[in-house]
Amino acid sequence: MKRYELPPLPYSYNALEPYIIEEIMRLHHDKHHQTYVNGANAALEKIEKHLKGEAQIDVRAVMRDFSFNYAGHIMHTIFWPNMAPPGKGGGTPGGVVADKINQAFGSFDKFKQLFTSVSATVEGVGWGVLAYDPLTDELRVLQVEKHNVLMTAGLIPILVLDVWEHAYYLQYKNNRASYIENWWNVVNWDDVEKRLNSAINHGKASLNL
Ligand code: MN
Repeated sequence: MKRYELPPLPYSYNALEPYIIEEIMRLHHDKHHQTYVNGANAALEKIEKHLKGEAQIDVRAVMRDFSFNYAGHIMHTIFWPNMAPPGKGGGTPGGVVADKINQAFGSFDKFKQLFTSVSATVEGVGWGVLAYDPLTDELRVLQVEKHNVLMTAGLIPILVLDVWEHAYYLQYKNNRASYIENWWNVVNWDDVEKRLNSAINHGKASLNL
């Protein structure tokens, strides 16, 4: 089975300042994301040993571990390029992203309002997610707990916001709302558009449309 690796940040650690400080980015990327990569790989290791007859495992516990850590790896792998330095990031989307957002939510402002409140009200730890639904060719906003709970099967995330405390506490303390408001200044809409186009094509191919 394939092992996972920590992808490098697509910009320098201080590139998102003043909205997200270097210290957060270093810890978040080098420590937290690495932990999920290691956790997913450790679960795969156990499964492999089990299949070779070298180890008895608690299958349910290992699968739960894998789901949590693998989803953590996936979400962070999308999260980093979803952001870009102020100036390049921020503003409002155009093209197909704008069209799909208008179609699903009525307007960009309504989408922003929903995504903001969904992210602000995650209980404990989790993510705000904008995802493409290939079954209906629509965008959906999801509230995901941890990294994996309530992430609806088959939906393809194209914009994700980490609202675990490790994503903002060193700079924003308990003021998650302020972190979310500032985060909009570094959203990389070009990356979101790339992901949406790829999700649309993937959906068409997988459904034989
Ligand atoms: Mn995180």
